[in-house]
Amino acid sequence: MSKIAISEILRDKKAVFFDMDGVLYDSMGAHADAWNNAFRFYGIDFPQEKVYENEGRTAQSTINLAYQQNEQRNASEQEIDQIYSKKTELIDFLPDIVPFKGAEKLMEYLKKQDIAIWIVTGSSQGKFLEALLDDFEGYISADQIISGNDVKHGKPNPEPYLMALKKSGFNSSEVIVIENAPLGILSAKAAGIFTVAINTGILDDSVLLDSGADLIFKDWNELNSDI
Ligand code: CA
Repeated sequence: MSKIAISEILRDKKAVFFDMDGVLYDSMGAHADAWNNAFRFYGIDFPQEKVYENEGRTAQSTINLAYQQNEQRNASEQEIDQIYSKKTELIDFLPDIVPFKGAEKLMEYLKKQDIAIWIVTGSSQGKFLEALLDDFEGYISADQIISGNDVKHGKPNPEPYLMALKKSGFNSSEVIVIENAPLGILSAKAAGIFTVAINTGILDDSVLLDSGADLIFKDWNELNSDI
């Protein structure tokens, strides 16, 4: 199957909405490890594949889902706090999370084409949001980030992407989304936005296509091949 080139897709677009983890950062392995070990510490089984399938959920929603599957009930507030604290603690012991080089290459291209850059992430951890401004200095500004702190309903709800449309003033046909995860794709598609998937994780392409991705690339090199 021959793919439409990214320059073609961007021809009449005014903005790109980027997801963060797994799109801008090679971070999902670290998050999956930290979640898996935090759950195991409290006797809950939640394998790595489940983390990838549910990437983009808020922490509370992820923990409730794991308790539903293990204990057939939601987690208590105390359990949510304990497990989320443990996950946050464990991720500090993992190797530094680094940006994908290809992300900056695309941002440089967008800047030259005068296409706006917005970030739409479920993450609410301050240290990652601060790193974003450092690592992509010159491309990203703080008022063009929608984080987990800004929304009531995380992905797969369309709220994060609808909020980005509202704040940016673009309509859905003027924008594309770049996502790596099923729930992120569902969220973007429910907001009516053309969604490009980049499969940086462990799930089959079919999972991302079944979630509604309009186009899928296997990695940043393939996505950037014509720019
Ligand atoms: Ca992601």
